[in-house]
Amino acid sequence: MSKRDYYEVLGVSKSASEAELKKAYRKKAIQFHPDKNPDDKQAEENFKEAAEAYEVLSNPEKRQRYDQFGHAGMGGASGGGFGGGMNMEDIFSHFGDIFGGGSFFGGGFGGGGRSSRRVNRGSNLRVKVKLTLKEIAEGVEKKIKVKKYIECNSCNGSGAKDGSSFSTCSTCNGSGQVTRVQNTILGQMQTASTCPSCNGEGKMITNKCTSCAGEGIVRDEEVISINIPAGVAEGMQLSVSGKGNAARRGGINGDLLILIQEEEHPELVRDENDLLYNLFISIPDSILGTAVEIPTIENKVKVKIDGGTQPGKILRLRGKGLPDVNGYGRGDLLVKINVWVPNNVSKEERKVLEKLQSSESFQPKPSSQEKSFFKKVRNFFE
Ligand SMILES: [Zn+2]
Ligand SMILES: [Zn+2]
Repeated sequence: MSKRDYYEVLGVSKSASEAELKKAYRKKAIQFHPDKNPDDKQAEENFKEAAEAYEVLSNPEKRQRYDQFGHAGMGGASGGGFGGGMNMEDIFSHFGDIFGGGSFFGGGFGGGGRSSRRVNRGSNLRVKVKLTLKEIAEGVEKKIKVKKYIECNSCNGSGAKDGSSFSTCSTCNGSGQVTRVQNTILGQMQTASTCPSCNGEGKMITNKCTSCAGEGIVRDEEVISINIPAGVAEGMQLSVSGKGNAARRGGINGDLLILIQEEEHPELVRDENDLLYNLFISIPDSILGTAVEIPTIENKVKVKIDGGTQPGKILRLRGKGLPDVNGYGRGDLLVKINVWVPNNVSKEERKVLEKLQSSESFQPKPSSQEKSFFKKVRNFFE
């Protein structure tokens, strides 16, 4: 089947303006609309043909190509199939542009593919949960009391007194939509909108439940237990599907969103999955060596500090940090060694120190590695 000329299809001249094209297409679309020509294959072909012609000619770029090369210039669209891969859905979706909003022939067309009846949805709820580092390290089950809308018990959420006192909405006959018919110069046109009587639900309650005044939901409290995985961090949000507010009259529940907050640990500072600890040792301990206790999330660990340890050194206790929330191993505990310098000393201490002040081993002799150490650690503690 060879293709007819697009201008011929729409019945316009080669120099037709945009407005003329639109007008011509409206005429054809109304004439061959499937609603007006049920089971008429030829009308459907004509309807598609007009849509394709308009699709090409209403696009300046495509129109220019068509004018220059004819159907051959339309690439894949010219293969005898339908222009630009358009199907009936596409055609109808374009009607909004041409007929100015709303659907064109009302709810009738579309083969009932899309239900216009509205489904209620409950709103989401947001709660904050404060966790200790220990809870974060291990994961925790939290029971949270939430004030929210729940399904009404008396009517099982339907809003109707005996659970079945419904009647089909007489305004929209249950479709949830009302169509308005307008007489225009092009004939009758319909626009569809949500039914105001039933809010798009398609049905009405004849006998309202007294517990919920026909809403299907009541205000209440619910204790919800949430499993919080190990490794979560401040600012993360977990979502528990369906645990938010119930929807009016048996719709879809909202979600419960849990915002994670971290309680500060008295000694440990979190840095992603690592933990940081500032250790202070005395001057004699730094020279002679010592053993110290380092706090971890679970307990304490003993750590040996070698004699001659310079302040600023960082010890890494592998695996003593927090587990990764996605299961990629565990962070470390980083211990920064600081040497405590007293600002007050007794007379006797002063005498000892004055002796040491000039003694040979107390003169600074940093290695080149120690000289450049600052560069490496500057990012660790602010
Ligand atoms: Zn009720
Ligand atoms: Zn209605």
